[in-house]
Amino acid sequence: MKTERCDLLVVGGGPGGYTAAMRAAAKGLRVTLVEKGPMGGTCLNRGCLPTKALLEDTLTIERVRRARFLKGDLKINRERILERKAALVAESVAGVTQTALEKGVTLLQGKASFTGPDRMALERPGDEPLEVQARHILLATGSRPEYGPGFAIDGERVLDTDAALALASIPRSVAVVGTGNRGVEFAAIYANLGVRVTLIERAKRILPREHRWVSGRYRQVLGQRRMQVLTRTEAVAAEPTQGGGVRLTLESPKHEQDRLEVDQVLLTGSRRPSFAGLNLEAAGLVLQDGLLEHGPALETGQKGIYVAGDAAGAPYLAHKAIGQAMAAVDGILGKEASAEALVVPNCIYGDPEVGSVGLKDYEAKKAGYNVRLGEFHLVRNGRAGTMGKDEGVVLTVSDADTGRVLGMHILGPSATELISLGALAVRNGLTVGDLKQTVLPHMTLSEAVFESAAATDGEAVHQ
Ligand SMILES: Cc1cc2nc3c(=O)[nH]c(=O)nc-3n(C[C@H](O)[C@H](O)[C@H](O)COP(=O)(O)OP(=O)(O)OC[C@H]3O[C@@H](n4cnc5c(N)ncnc54)[C@H](O)[C@@H]3O)c2cc1C
Repeated sequence: MKTERCDLLVVGGGPGGYTAAMRAAAKGLRVTLVEKGPMGGTCLNRGCLPTKALLEDTLTIERVRRARFLKGDLKINRERILERKAALVAESVAGVTQTALEKGVTLLQGKASFTGPDRMALERPGDEPLEVQARHILLATGSRPEYGPGFAIDGERVLDTDAALALASIPRSVAVVGTGNRGVEFAAIYANLGVRVTLIERAKRILPREHRWVSGRYRQVLGQRRMQVLTRTEAVAAEPTQGGGVRLTLESPKHEQDRLEVDQVLLTGSRRPSFAGLNLEAAGLVLQDGLLEHGPALETGQKGIYVAGDAAGAPYLAHKAIGQAMAAVDGILGKEASAEALVVPNCIYGDPEVGSVGLKDYEAKKAGYNVRLGEFHLVRNGRAGTMGKDEGVVLTVSDADTGRVLGMHILGPSATELISLGALAVRNGLTVGDLKQTVLPHMTLSEAVFESAAATDGEAVHQ
């Protein structure tokens, strides 16, 4: 087998892998990136990007439907929606491929598996196998979904997110199992298309990782949008019905067992790091509970082998993958690096949106802080009113002793954009006073961040 050499071999062409490869190449390292599928990984091909394309188009539908000054019937052209999504994906994949090449990254198509701690064999479609020997190896191999044993995904009635993105048909009714980021986003897409949506959550509240107040309010809003929400309910099995739909078996402490019939069920699953086919043993790597243990600079127990992104474990988010990739390359370059200091916001795309970062007030109290909470409701924000979407809130959590912002939790339109202000504040140790002294443009949603900080001292202008 032919052997090639490089400074850094990156396995995986998703946001974790391509960020690391480009950054290392820009810093002068000889970098090879191997990807077994299309460049861009889950994010560009099956995740962040195609979901947002669908969401944006269906939000347009919802907005037009809501506009009382428009008359007449609305016809949805499903093919056009799918065409736009496909074109966006193709453009982005081509863009990231081109940029990587321009930065000097050698891109190889193939499936990598370890043959030793510093080398991997690449199985290449229609080409001779190749061995790559590298001073450093970064595993950015992503994650895989896990579903309960009672489900067989057929892509027609029982769907995973890949099948849902194909939008082969618009069902009359759908049950979305799981109310994390992906569940809520798909629920919005379906509801905007006029589909009757039931959300099923095994925890006692939806969006279980978000602030209690935010998840409670979110549930009310979903109710107003005529979605049914079942909490403390576990979907344990799905079977096809003769009528062409699917029957879900549900278990809950209240009803023990129940049935729900819908046209389609979407399983959002939970995610686990993916190392399939990597032959980790050949590199002396051992998984602990499905995870590859690593230090703060993402180096594994085997010197020179790093892990980043979804492969490094939760949270399974593209921006976390990018942050970790940067830290790993810093470590490889011998700089002081730590991914532990990363401040990673969480974003729920849908309708409404949620953005959150840092501690919740009750978590901060538990951690021993003397906590203050600034609360500003969007019903007092003019821009939210003009959008007809004023059901949200901005919560600012701070330390009463130092004024430092410890967390921010936003529900409302563009919360996924607004939370960047919170991330900036939390990451840089800004205080409530700093936020209060920053003049934010009128009339924007961002004023609500200023108002929420001011509300900490009872000084919100419009509340
Ligand atoms: C439906 C959906 C929507 C999402 N929306 C968002 C969002 O809006 N915002 C957000 O932040 N995150 C979102 N995510 C999560 C996001 O996609 C992931 O967190 C992100 O893609 C992780 O990047 P990564 O580089 O670690 O892994 P991935 O993007 O999964 O890339 C891993 C790559 O490694 C390749 N690979 C694996 N093994 C090998 C091997 N042996 N040899 C060669 N190649 C290999 C795979 O083919 C894959 O392309 C979403 C996920 C899904 C499923």
